[in-house]
Amino acid sequence: MKNLKENEVWFITGSQHLYGEETLRQVAEHAQIIAKELHNSEKIAVSIVYKPVVKTTEEIYAIVQEANQAPNCIGLITWMHTFSPAKMWINGLKILQKPLLHLHTQFNQDIPWNSIDMDFMNLNQSAHGDREFGFITSRMKVSRKVVVGHWQDKELHGEIDVWSRAASGWHDWQGAKFARFGDNMRYVAVTDGDKVEAELKFGFSVNTYAVGDLVEKINAVSDVQLKALIEEYEATYTLSDDLKANGSKRHSLLDAAKIEIGMRTFLEEGGFKGFSNTFEDLHGMKQLPGIATQRLMADGYGYAGEGDWKTAALVRAMKVMGTGLDGGNAFMEDYTYHFDPNNSLVLGSHMLEVDPCLTKDKPSCEVHPLGIGGKEDPVRLVFNGTGGDGLNASIVDMGNRFRLIVNEVEAVAPLKDLPKLPVARVMWKPMPDMKTGCAAWILAGGAHHTCFSQNLSSEHLNDFATMAGIETVNIDKETTIRGIQNELKWSDAYYQFNKK
Ligand code: MN
Repeated sequence: MKNLKENEVWFITGSQHLYGEETLRQVAEHAQIIAKELHNSEKIAVSIVYKPVVKTTEEIYAIVQEANQAPNCIGLITWMHTFSPAKMWINGLKILQKPLLHLHTQFNQDIPWNSIDMDFMNLNQSAHGDREFGFITSRMKVSRKVVVGHWQDKELHGEIDVWSRAASGWHDWQGAKFARFGDNMRYVAVTDGDKVEAELKFGFSVNTYAVGDLVEKINAVSDVQLKALIEEYEATYTLSDDLKANGSKRHSLLDAAKIEIGMRTFLEEGGFKGFSNTFEDLHGMKQLPGIATQRLMADGYGYAGEGDWKTAALVRAMKVMGTGLDGGNAFMEDYTYHFDPNNSLVLGSHMLEVDPCLTKDKPSCEVHPLGIGGKEDPVRLVFNGTGGDGLNASIVDMGNRFRLIVNEVEAVAPLKDLPKLPVARVMWKPMPDMKTGCAAWILAGGAHHTCFSQNLSSEHLNDFATMAGIETVNIDKETTIRGIQNELKWSDAYYQFNKK
């Protein structure tokens, strides 16, 4: 993944000429100090770039136009140090295409009780200047986040970071390409959806590619490439005896490595950020890709199985959002339950494709039969996911809109060994509790496929949904079934009235 410091958030301060040169000079000086503090904050992953104070309709329009065009600009922070009459902002906000964070701060933390006079009051007007800006953004229905507090407050830096990470994920989606090998798994509803609407709404494209073209890349893998990757497997994982040199299943490891190299070549040559495949369409491949997909995911590719391009794209965006944070973001499936009344848990996994970014342990590399797909036994990495706070997120297509469902969870290490389970696994407790969490998820139509996150919060996902202009359903400690039933009904009504 690329370093988030390459992503720029432009810091734009609004004012007007009424105040005179001396005040405007101070406004610019303060804005530069604030932008520098935010840029240098250890809590903020992106670059914060100071831009000259805007004072007229034309200057505002010009800076927004420039931001729209700038390839590295992922969003704008606006702040009204003084009063900036908001009709000046209308034309600029009309053309704004990047995410917006309205920072409601002021230069001084405390009121200078003994020295405060009208000059000070005229310079430090964000308390009402930002309300004027808030009015016009509300009137124009501009999607944005409002962050309030003193600019030196570390908690405020954290809130800006959350939004900046969401904006980084959003930026990464614009123009992104996702490859599909094969179509949707036959008859499955939730993994399907409107790819035209998704491209309009989300900015990424999803197109299909023949498995045969991928097989060509796999068959073209050289012995030198193969040898290097096998050595990497041997250095990185604990190989089961049958996969070791001279082991009875060594050929399976060689086949798996060729699949990985072929897939990687295909994805790199096509400039793809993620992919999906299906076990129903693997003509010419010896195995269902297991370790190949696992390692590609760990390297930042978005992926989901069975043609699920929505989850593949979400996994990619969440991986970008979590760049540099401890823990991972990974394709996941609610697989089976532990209904112990005293400690109910979900066991999450997939047939093969569980991302090793979820573990701190050294995965074991194994080969086992797979009862689905009708291919040779696939090689896979097996491990236990790490415990801690996490969440599951899912995007579904409701027909007239996309809905993002987020369930906060507490992940736990598996309670006991699972010696016969030949796949990687994660366990968690859904919030607020097993019964309510699962019922709310099902009422909201959440998929069995998700992106499981160890390092993002609901706030990241909510900021992201705001940028995308889609519905969010949060299932967390506050959730009740009655509450969510009402929310879903009201939301249906809202989207009937707000058709685009
Ligand atoms: Mn699945």
